[in-house]
Amino acid sequence: MKTRCYLKTISSALLICLFSISAFSQGTVRWKAHDLNRPSPRIIIPPAQYLPIKPPSDAIVLFSGGELSKWESTDGSDTKWISRADYFECVKGSGYIRTKEGFGDVQLHVEWAAPLPVKGKSQGRGNSGVFLMGRYEVQVLDSYKNETYADGQAAAIYGQSPPMVNASRPPGEWQSYDIIFRRPRFDNLGMVVKPARMTVIHNGVLVQDNVELWGGTEWLKYSPYKQHADKLPLALQDHGNPVRFRNIWLRELAEEPAAPPVLPPVVALGAVQLKRYVGTYTQKDGKGKYQITLQNGSLFISPGWGRSFELLAHSKVKFSTKFTAIDINFALDSTGNPTGLSYKFTGSTTEYIKATHEE
Ligand code: MG
Repeated sequence: MKTRCYLKTISSALLICLFSISAFSQGTVRWKAHDLNRPSPRIIIPPAQYLPIKPPSDAIVLFSGGELSKWESTDGSDTKWISRADYFECVKGSGYIRTKEGFGDVQLHVEWAAPLPVKGKSQGRGNSGVFLMGRYEVQVLDSYKNETYADGQAAAIYGQSPPMVNASRPPGEWQSYDIIFRRPRFDNLGMVVKPARMTVIHNGVLVQDNVELWGGTEWLKYSPYKQHADKLPLALQDHGNPVRFRNIWLRELAEEPAAPPVLPPVVALGAVQLKRYVGTYTQKDGKGKYQITLQNGSLFISPGWGRSFELLAHSKVKFSTKFTAIDINFALDSTGNPTGLSYKFTGSTTEYIKATHEE
C-alpha cells in the first residue's frame, strides 16, 4: 500500500515536471524568420483617409516637400534620392538614407506609395523600409495582391512580427504609417533591460499592438540586441525599388515618467480626536450637507448620494480625500472641537456648519 502510494507521488511529480517543461517551451516557441507556413494576415479594406495628415504643433518635420535637407546618405554624403515638390523617391543603388539628427522614443508619421507600373513580385515589389534608430524596420512593401512571407509584408516588423491584418492600398496610392516606438534600454554592462516596443497603425488600422522586439531586424540573420546610443538616426531603405515618401514627421516622446507629486505628509490622529469630527455638517442656507463618519479607524466624508470619500489628516485642521483632489479644512473651537468645515474642490470652496454630533 505504502509502495503504491509512493509510486503515485513520484508519477504525479513527473507529470507536473513534464507539464512545466512543456509549458515553458510553449512560452518560448516562436516562428522562424521568413517562414512561408506562417499564416498570412487577413486582407481588409482600410478606411478612407484624407492624406497628407498635417503635423501637430510639437512635431519635428523631416520632410514636407522640396529639398531633403534633413537627410543624408549613411556615409554622411548628400543623398542621391530624388526629391520633388511634395515627395521624394528612392533611387536604385544609391543606398539607404538617414536623418541627420538622432531620435529615441518617438511617435512617427510616414506616408509612402508603392511604384507604378507594378514590377516584380514578393519581396521584389515596392520594397523599402522605415528603420527606427537605423536598425528596427517596419517593412514597406507593395502588399496589394502580392504574396510573400507573413513577417516580410507591408507593416511587418521585419522578420519578427507580421501585421495583424493586411490593410494595404493599391500601388500608386498614398499610404500612411503611424508608429509609436519605445527604444530598448540597456544597463551599464550593455545588457538589455527593456526590449524595444512598437505599435503600428497602417492606413488608420492597428496592425502592431505594442509588440516587443527581440533584437534588430535583419534578413537571414539573427540579430540579438547590442548596446547602442539612446538616440540614433531614422533611416529609409534602398531595396532597389522607386518607392515614394512624403509628409514625414515625428514627435519625441518623454523617456522618463513625469515626476511624482509632492503631497503634504499624513499624520495619525488618536481615536478620541477622530471621534470629534463625526457628525452632520450643513450649508448656512441648509441646502447642502455632508456626513462625517468613522469606520475602522478612518474618517469618511459623504455627500449623501451613495458616495463617500476616505479622509487623510494632515493636521487637526487640514484634511484631504485619499484619491480625489478635495481639501477639507475644519474650524475648531478653543477646546479643539470641530464647529464647521470648508470643502474645496476644483477651485471653489463651500462652507458648512456642524449641525449634529453623532457618536
Ligand atoms: Mg524592406
